[in-house]
Amino acid sequence: MTTRALGDLPGEALDGKRALVRVDFNVPLKDGAVTDDARIRAALPTITYLRERGARVVLLSHLGRPKGGPEPKYSLRQVVPTLERLLGAPVDFITDLAAGVAATKRLPRGAVALVENTRFWPGEETNDPALAASFAALGDFYVNDAFGSAHRAHASTEAVARLLKPAVAGFLMQKELTYLGETLADPKRPFIAVLGGAKISGKIDVIEALLPRCDEILIGGAMACTFFTALGFDMGTSLVERDRIDMAKGLLARAGKVLILPRGAVVAPSLDRAAERREVSSDAVPKGWAVFDIDQATRVDFRARLARARTIIWNGPMGVFETPPFDAGTRAVAEGLVQAGAKGAVTVVGGGDSAAAVAGLEDKLTHISTGGGASLEFLEGKPLPGVSALESA
Ligand code: ADP
Ligand code: MG
Repeated sequence: MTTRALGDLPGEALDGKRALVRVDFNVPLKDGAVTDDARIRAALPTITYLRERGARVVLLSHLGRPKGGPEPKYSLRQVVPTLERLLGAPVDFITDLAAGVAATKRLPRGAVALVENTRFWPGEETNDPALAASFAALGDFYVNDAFGSAHRAHASTEAVARLLKPAVAGFLMQKELTYLGETLADPKRPFIAVLGGAKISGKIDVIEALLPRCDEILIGGAMACTFFTALGFDMGTSLVERDRIDMAKGLLARAGKVLILPRGAVVAPSLDRAAERREVSSDAVPKGWAVFDIDQATRVDFRARLARARTIIWNGPMGVFETPPFDAGTRAVAEGLVQAGAKGAVTVVGGGDSAAAVAGLEDKLTHISTGGGASLEFLEGKPLPGVSALESA
């Protein structure tokens, strides 16, 4: 089933109409200013397309985790100057939903308004139909371009899409659905997944979903330590999820040759004693030391496997990449994706930290998903409420 997309709507459905667009402007802020505008830039293709076709654009987003009421530090007003700069146009700011209806009707064709943080209204996170109706009154049709919020059934992502029609996917949303969806549905083989990060707990379902589909799953990060503990190795003071060891045993038993664990690790007594780091094989982590990265032998092994792949999906860093030199394994895998991509492989990266780890490589990878939790749930094969509520093509 494909989702109806913005590009499918005829010109007359847009011209002069109020487009209510759910975007993901959940951006990092410091002292009231946006420190990374990537998420705002990612929404520009949809906003620009609408403006150029004479629509009046009304934007909805959440920001941070306010506790069910207005909090200045989570006000989207802080985003207005950045948005105005990127659009090269003024942006109306709407704080009152009832009064906002008239304001949206006064907007000239091609103009843009931004509504205050959707989570300032208590009904947002409970998917309240009454709040959704107040949102719906701000538009003549609905566009969801917030893939990163699509795994949550909230008033601005789910209930509103059931009230306001047409309800379609924006270009960013469409791109996510295409790459993540097609990658999984019909991968060119060999199809390799690389999984890492801190925990297996949040990713068990992803491993379960990928196991029957992938030719190989390369495991790195602290996640590998839980698997090694399940095999009976002592992982020192490494991050191990004791309560997931049985689960890890079960996966290993079923995975056969598909799960590939690291040959060895870079270990150190602690993160701030990196100078003492050394490489050990995975069954020889010294007592009191911890694993912080995959070792050189594993990097070579993983890169050789990736070089043969025609589809690669990657989630989760191979080590504590925020703290060099423990970023080397993650960088090696990133290079492996870039190299495979240069030979025609489809390369997809999902996850918040993983996306940060490949910053600057956007042009050399097929797709970097903007949705952390949402891309994981999508990979698990779960329906995303914010997508299910849109119309089918
Ligand atoms: P993503 O956000 O891409 O889904 P995760 O949040 O699952 O990724 O994992 C990222 C985190 O995992 C990073 O903060 C990284 O420092 C941590 N991590 C990776 N390897 C290790 C390790 N060996 N020990 C401790 N933390 C690790
Ligand atoms: Mg993360």
